[in-house]
Amino acid sequence: MNKREFIKNLGLGSAAVIGAPILLQSCSGDSETSSDFKLWVWTGGGNKTESDWDNEISGLKDLGFFGVLVGGGKEVLEKAIPAAKKHGLEIHAWQWTMNHPGDKKAQEHPEWYAVSREGNSSFDVRPYVDYYQWLCPTKPEVQEYIFNHMMDICDTEGLDGVQLDYVRYCDVILPQGLWSKYDLVQDHEMPEFDFCYCEDCRSKFKAEEGYDPLDLEDPSQDENWKQFRYDSITNLVNKIADGVHQRGKKLSASVFATPSLARMMVRQDWDKWNLDFVFPMIYYKFYAEDIGFMKRATEEGIRDLNGSKPLYTAFYLADKNIEEVSKAVELVKETSANGMAFYDYGLLSEDFRKVIQQKTTP
Ligand SMILES: [Zn+2]
Repeated sequence: MNKREFIKNLGLGSAAVIGAPILLQSCSGDSETSSDFKLWVWTGGGNKTESDWDNEISGLKDLGFFGVLVGGGKEVLEKAIPAAKKHGLEIHAWQWTMNHPGDKKAQEHPEWYAVSREGNSSFDVRPYVDYYQWLCPTKPEVQEYIFNHMMDICDTEGLDGVQLDYVRYCDVILPQGLWSKYDLVQDHEMPEFDFCYCEDCRSKFKAEEGYDPLDLEDPSQDENWKQFRYDSITNLVNKIADGVHQRGKKLSASVFATPSLARMMVRQDWDKWNLDFVFPMIYYKFYAEDIGFMKRATEEGIRDLNGSKPLYTAFYLADKNIEEVSKAVELVKETSANGMAFYDYGLLSEDFRKVIQQKTTP
């Protein structure tokens, strides 16, 4: 039925005629939504030349991609930006925020690192994996260090924005699909993975709430102590957001799958952050979930954001077949997500490119 027939079928009472423009608007709105489904991809810098970037980004443009999240420092960005501008893609700097393995500048300050409930510093004892070395988000010196780094990156000429990764505490609870890998059953918060109990965090909390979290029988049950740590990350994110916005650029973050899981596992209160948009990493196999989680988790994030900002569902391409990629895109498109982000460019095979293009071309 075309629009004219549709109006005719309404019976053309005066109310229907008045209502018609609204109905028409909502029809055209629908078609806009499908062409507005934006695609992003994470891509590493490595040793790519300007001409490598030109090939990569022009290929992404042909597939209908909207933006690239580029890992690496200013030198990498400066090589990639001209290609992004030439082909009309947004380019954002993908930056690790709280996890700083092998960071020479930070390592001059072992006191900057987060301390576990057992009393071990993440500087000396790395939880789970060798590349986990977490800074404490509460210390003013750490906040200043991270803020200054993000502003320096943000000032790169031609950059559209900064995308924060690892913007959280160490996983106090790992996603369930990873428990067997580390031979753990994390049905409670284990002290060696629970951060941060440094002097600064404990004394600031005590000044605010009147008690030391280490004096609690079970700190994992204390709502104030949970909230203190959510807020510590939120405050840092919002400071970075202010700086990025003052520079006329955008701030986003990759976060755990849903706000409730993110709070519980890594103390990310991400639906409260002043971001311009967000990339929940709905890596369903890590969560021991079926592919339907792509839709369920996306909808939960959209509901909790309550229209405050766009959401792009992030999808992990490793260990996936074509049917899974196809189904994932289909499921996310059934929600009101603003698009998807894929991790990462190196895993974007010819077959995956075809299926993504086919599923997202209006
Ligand atoms: Zn601390």
